[in-house]
Parts: sequence; structure tokens; C-alpha cells
Amino acid sequence: MDYLNALQGMSLEQIRSVIEIMQQSSDSYMFILDLTSDTYMVAEKATKRFPFPSIVIENCTEILKKVVYPADYEMLAADMEKCRSGEKDSHALEYRWLDRMGRVVWISCRGTVVAGAEGHRLLIGTVTEMGKKAKADNITGLRREVRFRLNMEATLRDDPGSVRYLMRIGIDNFKEINEKEGVEAGDEVLRELAECITKTVDESVDVYRLVADEFMVVDIGKGGEKEPRAIYRQIQKTIAATAKSKEYSRFYTVSAGVLEGGFSGRTVEEIMRFTEFALNEAKRNGRNQMAVFDRAAYDVYLEKLDIRKALRQDVSHDFRGFEVYYQPIVSAADYKLVGAEALLRWKNEKFGTVSPAVFIPILEESGLIIPVGQYVLWEAAKVCRKWKEYIPGFHINVNLSYVQLYKSDMMRDVERCIQEVGLDPESLVLELTESGYIETNDRIKELFRDLKSRKIDLALDDFGTGYSNMRYLKEIDAKTVKIDRSFVMQALRDEYDYNIISHIIDMVHSLGSVVCMEGIEEKEELAKMIATKPDMIQGYYFGKPSPAEQFEKQFLAATDSP
Ligand code: C2E
Ligand code: MG
Ligand code: MG
Repeated sequence: MDYLNALQGMSLEQIRSVIEIMQQSSDSYMFILDLTSDTYMVAEKATKRFPFPSIVIENCTEILKKVVYPADYEMLAADMEKCRSGEKDSHALEYRWLDRMGRVVWISCRGTVVAGAEGHRLLIGTVTEMGKKAKADNITGLRREVRFRLNMEATLRDDPGSVRYLMRIGIDNFKEINEKEGVEAGDEVLRELAECITKTVDESVDVYRLVADEFMVVDIGKGGEKEPRAIYRQIQKTIAATAKSKEYSRFYTVSAGVLEGGFSGRTVEEIMRFTEFALNEAKRNGRNQMAVFDRAAYDVYLEKLDIRKALRQDVSHDFRGFEVYYQPIVSAADYKLVGAEALLRWKNEKFGTVSPAVFIPILEESGLIIPVGQYVLWEAAKVCRKWKEYIPGFHINVNLSYVQLYKSDMMRDVERCIQEVGLDPESLVLELTESGYIETNDRIKELFRDLKSRKIDLALDDFGTGYSNMRYLKEIDAKTVKIDRSFVMQALRDEYDYNIISHIIDMVHSLGSVVCMEGIEEKEELAKMIATKPDMIQGYYFGKPSPAEQFEKQFLAATDSP
């Protein structure tokens, strides 16, 4: 072959310059390895990223030991030996290198053995970083995330002020399309959307495809004039028009997260996180919309993550910082104590006392409510058994999250608890929030039946908030309806609402259930609301939630003990 002859006549210096020239048009690293003299020549670019001391290396075996991931070295050496001995004429291996920071980089190395001058055998080939391979996307024809990151890195380093905005676009129901219509349909949507985005933005604006169903629009002030909101609206319109022209055979929507300004000093990682957060905000707000990155909201989100971490640590340290408080529930007939609601409290070294309105949802989202819920149940069951010595008919109300209902074996937990504590089931009331059990499936219904057959009562909590529905009363067969404080407040201000509460209470009675009215703080409030005929009352007027010891002292030790 001619090029071999040419090579034979070339000096090392000349071969090197050929490598460098060819290298300019490639993302791979070219190399020539003289197998006979153990000399390695590699593109300059490779020496910057990997620990090669120079571009010509005489004691190649020694140096490769530093560049090649130790566990892969033997495999490579064996293959090289075959090339040297003439057993093989080509080399193709995927293995690992270590970069200058010692990080593992997967590479694909391919080469051909050719005869060099004086009988030397030369291996000529390229090394490609596998992670960089997917720089362009064959489905959408757009450049991919790797390229976006590289370009962004350069922009942030050289001219961060030039960035006008970044817009991250995601398809709202992409998974559904893939699952229902197949991957080809998914690809078609990606292609369609890519085309729609590219046509909508100004020519100078860059569009990349990120992972899966996301795109990144980057305007780095090369003359683009359109504002992100206008672009987003136009994309929405085009998608809708396409769906219409195809007679709605396929329908999808997109959400977008926009980052504007403040690019100086930022890293690509941060920018990815910020745009992801903005996009998720748009999705959380109901999808099919655009959200602009909001630093304050992001900080709240980060704090939430911190709180979750602290909660997890405290749970695993035997419920450190958690405590159960008890609030009295009195009979509306004579204001005598009939029971208490167990209310969880949490105090943390870093966050201080955190409101249940903040930490309960985090416990629910993270699933931590399952162990914590058990903790509350056991604590509450134990004090209740004790307090029944003061008031035999005393009952304890424990809040139950829908996560516990759906994701844990509630019946087994409750059974075990009351048995081991020695509490009679009639003393336990489980409070369910209304919004939580909208989907009452068969398993949940069975659980309600089981509880009922074990004489454990259910209470419908927060009645009057969210989607009040008398149907739930029937569905969960609740013994008690707890009217929420916000509803009571409304009734105190507004006669119409007052009448509604009054009628609801009548209705609950006619269904054979009882009403506990929550949130009575003042004497006047009590006087007015008592006329609506609730059965029980819970509110600051009768007592705020307090630790077990204090509750016992204040409300029980004063009554006639047995
Ligand atoms: P909830 O179950 O409706 O509990 C009643 C809430 O109203 C309690 O708030 C109580 O302190 C408050 N409250 C009672 N009377 C008055 C009053 O007169 N005025 C005012 N302003 N507030 C009154 P808290 O303790 O902050 O709990 C908030 C919510 O957190 C509870 O609402 C419940 O949904 C949830 N929660 C508390 N502990 C637990 C628990 O152990 N498990 C679960 N899953 N949720 C819990
Ligand atoms: Mg409650
Ligand atoms: Mg309530």
C-alpha cells in the first residue's frame, strides 16, 4: 500500500505533524505505536487530558501502566503482544484510561498493524472517548448534551455576560406516548418537536437535545431578538396546530423552564440544575406552561431537601427530636374531657422547632411517615392506656396519613400495637384527612372493614377543606366528622356558612355519626358554635397541644382518679 511506503520514508517529526494535522478534524486521539521499539506517539490533545509526559514516549510499556486503568492493563498487554508477534494484524479494544485527575474514562481503541522501516511493526489507530461519542443525535439531527456542556463551559468561561437566556423544554407526556404508541411514535414526536423549536427560534439561537425528551434552547446574544415567552407560546401554538391537522391522532404538550441573567461565575452543573428546577416547577404547576427560574423558590426547595435529610437522620437515631403532644377533646354537652388528639412535634438542632405543616408533607413524600406514624401510634396507645385509669371511656385520636394506608400494612401494625400495649380497640380513633383517600381502592375498603370489625373507629379529619364530600363519610364509614378550624372561622364570619355547618351537623347525625368541632379559641366562638349542636369540641379554648406529662397534670390528675 502506498501510504505504507510513504510512512517508511518519513521522519518521526514528519509523522508527528501528519498526526497533528489529521487530529484537527477529529474528536479522537490518533496514535502510532512502534511495537518493535516500544515507542508511542500520540496527539498533543491526548497529553493534555491524560498523564502522558510528552507526545513521543520511548518507554511506552512503563508509561501506559500509568495511563491505563490497572485492572485493564493485562488484557491490553496481551493484545499488544499478539500484534507484536504477528499473531494479529489489528487491534480493537474498549477499556479504561485514567485522566490527569485519576478519573476513569472509557475509551475505544482501534488500530491496524503496518510494516514500518527496518522491519518494525507499527500499530496506527485512534482512541475515542466513549462518553463523548454521542455528540449528535440521529433522531432529531440536533447536537446533544455533551456538546451543549462543552460549548456552555467555554461561554461561561470566556463571556458569561453574553448569555441572554436558556430555555429547557420537556414533553409532558412522553413516557405515555412511548408506552402506548411505541418507541417509533416517540421518535417521531421528538423529531417533530425538534423541527418546531428550530423553526421558531432565531437562526443565531442554538438548540440541543438533552436526555430523553428534553431540549435546551440557548441564546448567547448573537442577534436573537425573540423573548423566551414568545418563543414558548409559538411552540405551543405550532404543536396544537399540528395535532389538529392530524385530527388529534396524537396529542402532546410541552413545558419549559427559563433561566435569565446572572450567568457570571456559574458552572454548567448549576445551570443544568437551575433549568431542571424551573422546568419541574412548570410541570408541578400543572404542565403545558413555562416557568422562569426563581432563586427564592429554589432555596426553599433546597431547604426542603435539607430538612428531609435531617428528618431521616433523626428517625434513624431512634426518633431523636420527635415528641407527641396531646390536645384535649371535650364533650359539647358538659365540656368534660373525653379524649385527646395526638399531634406530632419535631425539633432539630439545625432547624429548631419546625411546624407540622412543613415537616408532615416531607415525611409523607419521603415515606418516612411510615416509621414515624408507628412511633406516634405506640406513644399514643401507651399514654391512652394509662389515662384510662383516670377516665375509663377516654379515647385517643391518632392521625393517619394516606401514605401509611397505601404503603404499609396498617391493620397488622395497629393490631400488634394495641395487643402489645394492652389497649382496648374502642379507645383508638384513627383520623384520616379528606384529600388523602380520594382513590379508595378495594384494598383500602377492606382495611376500613377490618378496622370496623375490630371496633376501631375512624374519623374524617379536616372536613370543610378541599373537596368536602359527604360520600367519603359513607365510604370510610366514619364514626366522627371533624370540622376544620378554617370552616368554623368562616361560619363565625358569615351567616350562610354558619347555616351550612348547622345543616351538615344535622346530616351527619342523621347518618348515625358524630361531629367534633375544631379550632374554638374564644368564649364567644364557643357560645355561637355550640348552637349548631356538635358532639365534641377541640380548641385552644379548652387547651393547646402539650406534652404527655403536662397534659396529665393539667387535665387528668385534677379529675377524680380511681
Ligand atoms: P389536624 O389533624 O387537623 O390537627 C389539628 C390542628 O389544629 C393541630 O395543628 C392543632 O394544634 C390545631 N388546633 C387545634 N385547636 C386549635 C385552635 O383553637 N386554634 C388554632 N389556631 N389551631 C388549633 P398541628 O398540631 O400544627 O397539626 C397540623 C396538622 O399536621 C394536623 O392537622 C395533621 O393533619 C398533621 N399532623 C400532626 N400530627 C400528625 C401525625 O402524627 N401524623 C400525621 N399523619 N399527621 C399529623
Ligand atoms: Mg387530626
Ligand atoms: Mg383536623
